[in-house]
Amino acid sequence: MEITNEIYNSLMRLFGGAKCELNFKNNYELLVSVILSARCTDKRVNQITPSLFKKYPNAKSLANANTQELEQAIYSCGFYKNKAKNLILMAKDLQNRFNGQVPSDYDDLISLSGVGRKTANVVVSVGFSTPAIAVDTHVFRVSNRLGIVNAKNVVDCEKDLQRVVDKDKWSSFHHLLVLFGRYVCKSRNPNCKECEFKAFCKYYNDHSKT
Ligand code: SF4
Repeated sequence: MEITNEIYNSLMRLFGGAKCELNFKNNYELLVSVILSARCTDKRVNQITPSLFKKYPNAKSLANANTQELEQAIYSCGFYKNKAKNLILMAKDLQNRFNGQVPSDYDDLISLSGVGRKTANVVVSVGFSTPAIAVDTHVFRVSNRLGIVNAKNVVDCEKDLQRVVDKDKWSSFHHLLVLFGRYVCKSRNPNCKECEFKAFCKYYNDHSKT
């Protein structure tokens, strides 16, 4: 917990005020944006969502979307066929089971088509201010590299992080690790030279000895 607090404080100095980089005006837009952001950059998602939300401003319009038209609208996000199919099914779920509204409960969220743990955690955390640690590719990589977790999959990573991070810091820790992974501890060529966590970073110490 001590090292984790040290990391948290350093990341706050580096990326203080870190928050979700997706643009959205309500929880429907947040949920759609997070689904689109799978294996895609937030920047790219933000480029397509203004026109997307003009055409499909709510769950009802998305539930009734023409699949080919929706695919065309989200084409540049990648995996557009799957994402379009899931978005329509998810919107139908919202319409049929939640009166068109995005539920605040984690279990309700993961019961929606195409919504997994990461998406549900981002929505409860960002949309409903409920403490949660969403584990995306950056959070998984960085927390394992640093050695604050030793997890083989995202579920274990999430549970381990919940153990070593104070609950009131879960949501902000997620955003800090995302930005740190995006801009410093990148997947390829992490900027170890400039990184202040070298002294205890497991990845750095393992690799600098070889
Ligand atoms: S020392 Fe390198 S691998 Fe370790 S956290 Fe810093 S940038 Fe990432």
